[in-house]
Amino acid sequence: MATRIDGKAVAAKIHAQVAQDVEALKARGICPGMAVVLVGDDPASKIYVNNKKKACAETGIYSEEHLLPAETTQEELLALIEKLNADEKIHGILVQSPLPKHLDEKLVVEHIDPRKDVDAFHAYNVGKIMIGDFTFLPCTPAGVIELIRSTGVPIEGENCVVVGRSNIVGKPMAMLLLHNNGTVTICHSRTKNLAEICRGADILVAAVGKPKFITADMVKPGAVVIDVGMDRDENGKLCGDVDFDAVEPIASYVTPVPGGVGPMTIAMLMKNAVRAAEIQCGEPLRSENV
Ligand code: NAP
Repeated sequence: MATRIDGKAVAAKIHAQVAQDVEALKARGICPGMAVVLVGDDPASKIYVNNKKKACAETGIYSEEHLLPAETTQEELLALIEKLNADEKIHGILVQSPLPKHLDEKLVVEHIDPRKDVDAFHAYNVGKIMIGDFTFLPCTPAGVIELIRSTGVPIEGENCVVVGRSNIVGKPMAMLLLHNNGTVTICHSRTKNLAEICRGADILVAAVGKPKFITADMVKPGAVVIDVGMDRDENGKLCGDVDFDAVEPIASYVTPVPGGVGPMTIAMLMKNAVRAAEIQCGEPLRSENV
């Protein structure tokens, strides 16, 4: 039977470290600040934004919320980003995704000052991750690395399979596993023999967006299985991309949904907010962020 990886507990440790770092920065006269921008009233996005605000409050990070109506124009949103780019109180800017369809998400992200891009979605930061400069860690993949580390299972030399190749999860996930010396395979919707490839994984990361997609026959006995998915099952209940009940008896470690990867994404975001403040104030507490 697999051990469940407790994402809440690992995230709590990171929050505690962030809170200490915030204290250290405040002692030097720097208060890390984050702006969260939400356009429209998507209920799931509202929950995410509230959770991020709560995490800022808990760690001592100053936060402000910019709630804009769904009919906000591209020009209005870009004007707000520019204002926040120039605001010295604000070190991190986060625009909650998805944006209403009439807004160009890519253009909006590219407008954020890369030094304030705490999501690490800007092409400049994506490029830096590619070349191994991890000024800002991509939040969800970095959270997954922390969860794997918490098991004590080494990534180095292991066969790591990532199912999903999105820009926000799958691709940066593969990069971080590679940086940790894993032997990485990326799978997607056109992959042949998916089950067979997954069965070769010592570490399997599912980021597909399909409920219970990873079944028992896709998991090697003793594998570490990380479930990034946030899906709804046939009864509308929150579940992951992994068929948890079927996989738990086979894997060595597995993350639950909820309570696995989700809390880690926010914890890593807080870490990036501190990093952003350090960099903009020229006072890094540590030289490395990985
Ligand atoms: P996405 O942009 O929809 O990407 C899904 C990926 O899965 C794509 O690369 C797609 O392949 C691949 N895929 C789809 N069907 C497949 C199949 N039959 N076989 C193999 N691969 C298949 O989703 P995302 O943004 O990466 O998110 C993935 C999941 O993670 C979602 O459930 C999302 O809600 C969740 N998520 C959670 C967090 C968190 O904090 N916990 C953060 C972000 C996302 P193609 O590229 O070929 O289409």
